[in-house]
Amino acid sequence: MPLYELTAHELHEKLKAREVTAVELTQSMYDRIGAVEEQIKGYLTLTEDMALESAAAADAGFQRGDEMPPLAGIPIAIKDVICTKGVLTTCGSEILGNFVSPYDATVMTKLHQQGTVMLGKTNMDEFAMGSSTENSAYQTTRNPWNLETIPGGSSGGSSAVVAAGEAICSLGSDTGGSIRQPAALCGVVGMKPTYGRVSRFGLVAFASSLDQIGPFSKDVTDCALLLNAICGHDPMDSTSANLPVPDFTKSLINDLEGVKVGIPKEYFTAGIDPDVEESIRSAIEVLQENGAIIEEVSLPHTDYAMATYYIIAPAEASANLARYDGVRYGFRATNAEELGDMYRKTRSEGFGEEVKRRIMLGTYALSSGYYDAYYLKAQRVRTLIKSDFDNAFEKVDVVVTPTSPTAAFKIGERTADPLQMYLSDVLTTPASLAGLPGISIPCGLTQDDLPIGLQILAAPFEEEKILRAAYTFEQNTDHHRKQPNLSST
Ligand code: GLN
Repeated sequence: MPLYELTAHELHEKLKAREVTAVELTQSMYDRIGAVEEQIKGYLTLTEDMALESAAAADAGFQRGDEMPPLAGIPIAIKDVICTKGVLTTCGSEILGNFVSPYDATVMTKLHQQGTVMLGKTNMDEFAMGSSTENSAYQTTRNPWNLETIPGGSSGGSSAVVAAGEAICSLGSDTGGSIRQPAALCGVVGMKPTYGRVSRFGLVAFASSLDQIGPFSKDVTDCALLLNAICGHDPMDSTSANLPVPDFTKSLINDLEGVKVGIPKEYFTAGIDPDVEESIRSAIEVLQENGAIIEEVSLPHTDYAMATYYIIAPAEASANLARYDGVRYGFRATNAEELGDMYRKTRSEGFGEEVKRRIMLGTYALSSGYYDAYYLKAQRVRTLIKSDFDNAFEKVDVVVTPTSPTAAFKIGERTADPLQMYLSDVLTTPASLAGLPGISIPCGLTQDDLPIGLQILAAPFEEEKILRAAYTFEQNTDHHRKQPNLSST
């Protein structure tokens, strides 16, 4: 089996046994990238020299016989929304097209401490606004399962490179579904931790009350290892939770005896593709066969989640994106007459269509006279959505739903209709508004051989329950082993 098909925990054994060096592993990843990247277009920047240096450092540790962390020497890809010292961080936007971060995000510092090898930065929808990567100012990433379809978004580069074997694992960010939805569409594992679990320091802000960094991997074990590496309190992020972080690998238990699984009736309504529904129903049976107690639950305010999200997220975005004015960093328009003109031209030329749409929606929702009618009301509905989940988690341990109502759609199919595009996240945004942790794991293929994702949610800071359910499902099925049929060029 080629190295790029292995998981991080399998590779760790090989590195430890000196069956392969981290430098050889890294080189083999770039060979794979050379063979398929032209078709996938998942990377915006490759950092080969830095990667080989990190790999050599990991090798030195293994050579000395040091006790090496589980992710030492493991090749990882990073979404281009996460600041990486000395490397471009474009956020998929022209406006940050030349931005080289002077510092590392906290998650990067943590990965460096592990000795992880960063292969490069991955493509994304501009400022993480989108569900397909088609809003990237640079390129559209293709889904390795069918090159005519989108990989999901906004972390579509991060999900596609893992599915295509161009990275062993990756990091993405999730505001309304941007880790879970692309994980589902590319047939990999993707997890959004509880809001506050992972530091947002060095994550370019989209909607600060929702944004959260999380891992993509090939299996649940790697997901737990990545969570161990990136979670934890950070004084640099005032919203980061000052709570102890468990060893998530302890939750990798293949048994659900007595675990209560809630199925929200509101998530199986019109718009769910029949293939998706069938896969989810059989996934629920697998959970039941392994000891889970299945119960119907109700989340009555689900219908309002999209409207609420599309007030709160753009409102926060309009405030966060005010800083891109051409003064201190990033792109500056050259043909301006005076300061106001410079701001206007920089922002008109530097931002893409979708970002401008969100800024306008958000500015409107926050403007005087409309604030109460929109933003304040949305905040109230957000509380109702959160209390729906609180009620459900009094009865059940986890809630299980489809991640996305459909499998991957064709490139171009939804670009003309923003509302259609927004609806890709109808099943992920409610949990985002409630700040909950959620995973998407592969649970089958459609008749067209496109991956389907199972979403598992839990109460805040109960990632362990999610991992246990996901691990049990994985151990008793082989969906996560299926690979796209990608030919090298
Ligand atoms: N697709 C949603 C949006 O466009 C969610 C994006 C995200 O989670 N970053 O806002």
